[in-house]
Amino acid sequence: MPAISNLVKEIAPSATLSLKDEVSSLEKQYGFKIIDLTTGQPDTGPTDDILQALWEGGKLHKYGPVKGDPELRGILSEVISGQTGASYDAEDIAITVGVKGGLDILMKVLLGPGEKAGIIAPFWVTYPESVRLAHGIPCFLESDQALRPDPARLRKQVADNNIKVLLYSSPSNPSGVVYTEDELGQIAKIVKEKDIWVISDEIYAGFVFHGRKHSSILSIEGMRDNAILVDGPSKRFGVPGWRLGYVAGPRQIIAAVTKLQGHVNSGPSRPEQYAMRVAYTSQKAKQATEEMRQRYERNADIFVFGLIEPISCVKPEGAFYAFACINQLFGCEYQFADNQYVIKTSIDFRNFLLRKAQVAAVEGSAFGMDGYIRFSLATKREEVSKALANIKDAVSQLWL
Ligand code: PMP
Repeated sequence: MPAISNLVKEIAPSATLSLKDEVSSLEKQYGFKIIDLTTGQPDTGPTDDILQALWEGGKLHKYGPVKGDPELRGILSEVISGQTGASYDAEDIAITVGVKGGLDILMKVLLGPGEKAGIIAPFWVTYPESVRLAHGIPCFLESDQALRPDPARLRKQVADNNIKVLLYSSPSNPSGVVYTEDELGQIAKIVKEKDIWVISDEIYAGFVFHGRKHSSILSIEGMRDNAILVDGPSKRFGVPGWRLGYVAGPRQIIAAVTKLQGHVNSGPSRPEQYAMRVAYTSQKAKQATEEMRQRYERNADIFVFGLIEPISCVKPEGAFYAFACINQLFGCEYQFADNQYVIKTSIDFRNFLLRKAQVAAVEGSAFGMDGYIRFSLATKREEVSKALANIKDAVSQLWL
């Protein structure tokens, strides 16, 4: 058989997908009912008015504009201005196949072979792989102890590594950290000094907790020529399966994204874009997002408060994850099905939780930090409480 490309061999498989196999095998073998805290998606779907619009949008069955529906781009221009405080014309926005699809194309637009993208850790699992798919090199930039961006270190790392593109999400997946205006100002300064690109992934902007305000680097003076926004409806309207996202930025970047998109997928699904016109303007949908936000805020409070020593967790300020530090438990042992195991890595800890607590979470190594584990709290409150009780019980059975 002829060989496939070397590039594919370099790409890591999705950590969450391989975890699904492990979960179903344990459920089958031991009759477990595992509490799934792995998923990066809301536990509720779109409101009825959005669904009705999707049905009507089905009439749009021919190819549409590659850049996306102009009416929706017009609406997004308003949405962006409300969210970021920066004004982007409909012409400066391209609608993409998910935020993931937008990022994939954007990396190909920004990076040449061997050029470097700096990714602030901990990071969303797909960032390094999307850089590699564009033949770029991902560089991991460390945060401080509280998982916040560290401007002094960042400045040095950007210079030392000759970074061309800087990438982060705020609110952050996985840490739930929401960058402050001051932090964004310091990042903007570095971006301007080095004249590099910065991609701001704001997909969780609808989920900010405890009265905080979402801030965006796009609104900072001088950022127009350097900053690019990626965002989309997947999380805030509970439609990750619909595969829509968007990119906003300098006009030549949007033109380049559109050019590539014309060959990759001919533009995003038209019925879904039609439904999104309703989603982004519907009071009902806005209310549903707010209800989700309140539930996830409460789940995060309950979860972090209930975690026991020596597990610790920075309190999530947004998104719907808790990224807990578990490295104090490295070296601990446990027994399961006549075997003895030692926890040495976050994957070992993940397996320990599956086997002894029947809780599924994602290992920190997938997000660039091995001493951690990510729990998704986009679920019912009872599941969160049950998971906590199970984790407490399982951890009490560990020995050194
Ligand atoms: N960015 C971040 C930070 C995410 O967590 C996700 C989804 N898990 C995405 C982008 C991808 O979004 P989409 O489903 O719209 O492709």
